Amino acid sequence: MGYAMPMRETITVGLGERAYDIHVGAGLLKHAGELLSPLAKGVVPVVTDSHIADIHLPALLEVLRQSGLDARAIVMPPGEVSKSFAGLERLSGALLDMEIDRKGLVIALGGGVIGDLTGFAAGVLKRGVAFAQIPTTLLAQVDSSVGGKTAINAAQGKNLIGLFHQPRIVIADTGLLATLPPRELLAGYAEVVKYGALGDAKFFEWLEVNGARALAGDEGAMVQAVAHSCRMKADIVARDERETGERALLNLGHTFGHALEAATGFSDRLVHGEGVAVGMALAFQLSVKLGHCPGQDAERFVRHLKAVGLPSCIADIPGARPGAGELIRHMAHDKKVTDGKLTFILVRGLGQAFVTRDVPLEAVKSVLSD
Ligand code: ADP
Ligand code: ZN
Repeated sequence: MGYAMPMRETITVGLGERAYDIHVGAGLLKHAGELLSPLAKGVVPVVTDSHIADIHLPALLEVLRQSGLDARAIVMPPGEVSKSFAGLERLSGALLDMEIDRKGLVIALGGGVIGDLTGFAAGVLKRGVAFAQIPTTLLAQVDSSVGGKTAINAAQGKNLIGLFHQPRIVIADTGLLATLPPRELLAGYAEVVKYGALGDAKFFEWLEVNGARALAGDEGAMVQAVAHSCRMKADIVARDERETGERALLNLGHTFGHALEAATGFSDRLVHGEGVAVGMALAFQLSVKLGHCPGQDAERFVRHLKAVGLPSCIADIPGARPGAGELIRHMAHDKKVTDGKLTFILVRGLGQAFVTRDVPLEAVKSVLSD
């Protein structure tokens, strides 16, 4: 990435006959009609939540209708409640009532909740209809809208009912992020930092210089941050769509992060991206403790989290500190456990993550108690 920052980028996810493009740009929503009309047929449902319906839905419906599409909104309640069997029942009912064509296109306009739910509903509706992602949160633009993982939650845990269903196209308009609450924007940025940390030291270095600017509203910087994150995820997904290997690297910080989210009751105390930020810092510390990673890389990583205002240790989480024992119990319940052994993503340094199942519990305990 040089000095000029193009305001529009297209990234292809190379999945053979299921390949698709991710369009990243500031103000791209205006072009949604041109981009989507070749893919759509008949009624075009646009699934969103009531917050986004108030802000961005009218503009999207307008451009779709200008392109001759019969666009119709389906508005779900905001928040995780919609990622449920009840939400699925309601959404699939609404889609069936619209009598959508089996060769039609369902559009998801929203954050991770709307994207995951809509992708899943599209995947099972009439044994699968095509869908498009228009992610409206930073987290969804750099992570959940790309790669085809879709799911709803079960009483037994999050994302346990789902399938792989790749979108037909992703349109990431960074302009939509202007209305996102600052805390949500910053939490999504943790997933951006993750790409640097797991596989690209140069990108991490670029973020040290430009990350704060992107967060402060510099559109060129944000387009580059989102596009580069998508490029890295696209490359990994193209090589390992079903997570039999390399794709697991995208879980850097997530084993710890999910445990922290669970220990804080999936509440306002800690949103997903914040849990990932603390989780990645813990993964660096564990890597240092086990002799895999130089201490200065861990320090540099934490320095960047602090510089942008992300939490970087357990003590940064408001309220009573979750204990090491409790966190380990939550990790043991994580779906990434195989043969009773915990899988960790550790690092040999900035940009060099690896998967291991060979981590002594004592070291984990010690990092969680520091
Ligand atoms: P995530 O992508 O973090 O999983 P959610 O789908 O849970 O996000 O959305 C987080 C919250 O932000 C929801 O209440 C949603 O309605 C709201 N939201 C999503 N996108 C925007 C936006 N561009 N502007 C304002 N609020 C938004
Ligand atoms: Zn995540």
